Amino acid sequence: MTRIEIEKDKNINQKIDAPCRICKRTTKHIILTDIQLKGREETEHEFIYGWDDKYQTIQCQGCEGISFLKSHMNSEDMYAANPERDEWEYTTHVDIYPNPEEGREPVTDHYLLPAKLIKIYTETLSALNINNRVLAGIGIRAIVETVCKDKQAAGKDLAKKINDLVAQGVLTQDGADILHKLRTLGNDAAHEVTPHSAVQLSLALDVIDHLLQGVYILPHHANAKFK
Ligand SMILES: [Zn+2]
Repeated sequence: MTRIEIEKDKNINQKIDAPCRICKRTTKHIILTDIQLKGREETEHEFIYGWDDKYQTIQCQGCEGISFLKSHMNSEDMYAANPERDEWEYTTHVDIYPNPEEGREPVTDHYLLPAKLIKIYTETLSALNINNRVLAGIGIRAIVETVCKDKQAAGKDLAKKINDLVAQGVLTQDGADILHKLRTLGNDAAHEVTPHSAVQLSLALDVIDHLLQGVYILPHHANAKFK
């Protein structure tokens, strides 16, 4: 038997973080309208499948622009939030319309990046611009791996190397936490092909932009000015 419950405007006026295509960064948004849908497939004795969907109209508190947010979770789709402790969480797929990453610009002076990074960085950005989120996730992994190699980050796996970038002072702890949440960067998920949510990828690319600035672009300017 399928049971569907719909709740209206439960989270109205609450604030959430979401990427804004006009402000070109993640900003506080207020929820203007809210539909929460719970679907359950079950018999009298057995739960078979469940899904939770959200449909929200949201407004940026910076530019007052309005977008539509849709999110989906289901009982079949989990990921290892902490592989070492065998902790699993439900994957949330979030889409925002219009795509906030459309027309996202590369980091300032990105032409100063090493040649091997320019190509993968610009292609990752194009993937995000047209909402190709699987490819964007794989591109972000490739960028992080290249930076770890250049900075000779210590550690057996990518997660530990990311922590070493924090120890080296080129990545903030907040930045590392965001990268750790990307499943494509997880230990066992090198070939993960399920897409990330738009919100996660947008935040991850903000982290990548800061990282590339700190590791390659700012040192280049510093060397040029203090020779
Ligand atoms: Zn805005």
